Amino acid sequence: MADDYDAIVLGAGHNGLILAAYLARAGLRVVALERKAVAGGGLSTMEDPRHPGFLHNTHAFFQRGVTTMPWFLDLELARHGIEVIEPELNVLLLTEDGRTLEWWTDFSRTVDSFAAFSKRDAGTLRRWHDDFVPIVTNILRPEAASPPLPPAERRALLQRTAEGRLLLETSALSPLEFVKREFENPTVQAGLLFFNGLREVDLRLPGFGHHIPALLAASGKAQMSKGGSAALARALEGALRKAGGEIRLMTTPRRLVVEGGRVTGVETVDGEIIRARHLVASSLNPQQTFLELLDPAHLPAAVRERAAAFQYNLLAPLFALNLALGEPPRYSAAAGRPELDRAFMVIMGLDHVDRFGEIVRHHEAGTIPPTVMWGASPTVFDPSQAPPGRHTAFMWEKLPYRLEGDPANWDRAREAHGRTMLQLWQKHAPNLADAVVDSFTRSPLDVERSLPNMREGDLLIGAYANDQVGYHRPFPGAGHYRGHLPGLYLCGSSSHPGGNITGLPGYNAAQVVLADLGIKADWAPPPIAERLARL
Ligand SMILES: Cc1cc2nc3c(=O)[nH]c(=O)nc-3n(C[C@H](O)[C@H](O)[C@H](O)COP(=O)(O)OP(=O)(O)OC[C@H]3O[C@@H](n4cnc5c(N)ncnc54)[C@H](O)[C@@H]3O)c2cc1C
Repeated sequence: MADDYDAIVLGAGHNGLILAAYLARAGLRVVALERKAVAGGGLSTMEDPRHPGFLHNTHAFFQRGVTTMPWFLDLELARHGIEVIEPELNVLLLTEDGRTLEWWTDFSRTVDSFAAFSKRDAGTLRRWHDDFVPIVTNILRPEAASPPLPPAERRALLQRTAEGRLLLETSALSPLEFVKREFENPTVQAGLLFFNGLREVDLRLPGFGHHIPALLAASGKAQMSKGGSAALARALEGALRKAGGEIRLMTTPRRLVVEGGRVTGVETVDGEIIRARHLVASSLNPQQTFLELLDPAHLPAAVRERAAAFQYNLLAPLFALNLALGEPPRYSAAAGRPELDRAFMVIMGLDHVDRFGEIVRHHEAGTIPPTVMWGASPTVFDPSQAPPGRHTAFMWEKLPYRLEGDPANWDRAREAHGRTMLQLWQKHAPNLADAVVDSFTRSPLDVERSLPNMREGDLLIGAYANDQVGYHRPFPGAGHYRGHLPGLYLCGSSSHPGGNITGLPGYNAAQVVLADLGIKADWAPPPIAERLARL
């Protein structure tokens, strides 16, 4: 039976699972091959082996607007057991002098918080929010959930409307230029850049200024899965299996089988050949897909060079400090305002916009910058992630992959750096001095070890520089989810619109694959060119 699949998906992270689920629902016989013992990729929750009952989310935790994603609804994930929580105080920035900058799901409360730093900035925030709501609704969200257009065609369509022109004008700037041009207060600038930019793109890059107002205007706020991030993966698995799809764990491909010029299957490292009548779709990175899995005889020089040149984000690697706790962090800033202890994402160490320049310089030098970190205490919102009355919490920091020039240095530096982070955390939440039951750290090297597709620890699986955006992601010629050989498709974060738990690379790949097979997809949105032309 193993030789009569219609489609094979490489990697059972959320993008691979989403593509596989749509194909299975369309009646194809699908299998997803996953090298690990558990599916989900970055949607990973592990139980602390030393302290049973404490659950830690070792990769993705904040799921931005996941319930608003089209696949969340199409695949009926709520029926597969997922419950999503969206805390009202969505993001809280704590300054060294005890002030707070707050993002609420209620936008007017966010504006009030900004006004305490600068009335002018609060007005600017509201204006950009209002200007960008229609841009996000009519342009950016539909674009993210569609196979991308060639840049010249996109530009021509956008230039026809005032909304499109404002988007083009804003995106010509870098996030740093946008924020410095529009806002005056350095803490507001820092907060906006962090929340809207630092986690996504290199703030110096022109082409991304629109990220700041777009994220202000987005309806989808930070959310979490009840039971841990892996609960979302379990729901996706449930949807896939219900549609008749399969997952084979601990199955690593050695090479793609190419016959008669088309990709017809996969040979595993155990020597098994698994055949696919129609296609193999890879959610892995371009180096894995093209350089490691394809015989050079099937790899034209131009494709080889482009795959080899695929770049990773200098600023994306994360270092994590994870805590098992007797009680949740109690922040000094919450002394007179208890609602602050129910903040979801908490940011510390980021008082001034100039910290970004320092962070970039340290990343380039491979050294550790002064600590800027953010994280959460999941159990404040979901007690099921720890034994009764107990808690978990974590902080992340952007740190260079090549520490002192070599990622291997992380294995000796990791624990000491975790202590540095804990010191800063205790300054803001003094009760942590006595509340820690256990702790562990994970470095950018550990990230790559557990998910080798996150090369150089890049959790977005590919920079947004080097022309690796939209129609040209991962590289010119492969930006529409199709490889250079018939039967080869791409469906992971190295494709448009990129990394994070959006599921949209898998969703978009499903549109392309089913269209190529001539299978009608009732759920698919109208072509993006048509939608933009109608504006
Ligand atoms: C520390 C950390 C924190 C993060 N926090 C967030 C967050 O809060 N919010 C957010 O949105 N995103 C976050 N991310 C990013 C997010 O996890 C990724 O962008 C996302 O998981 C990418 O999804 P994917 O399906 O494309 O790839 P992945 O989730 O990486 O899935 C790829 C799958 O392929 C498998 N695989 C790899 N190589 C092979 C192979 N050779 N053969 C077979 N299978 C293979 C992997 O095991 C994995 O299961 C974080 C990542 C890290 C590391």
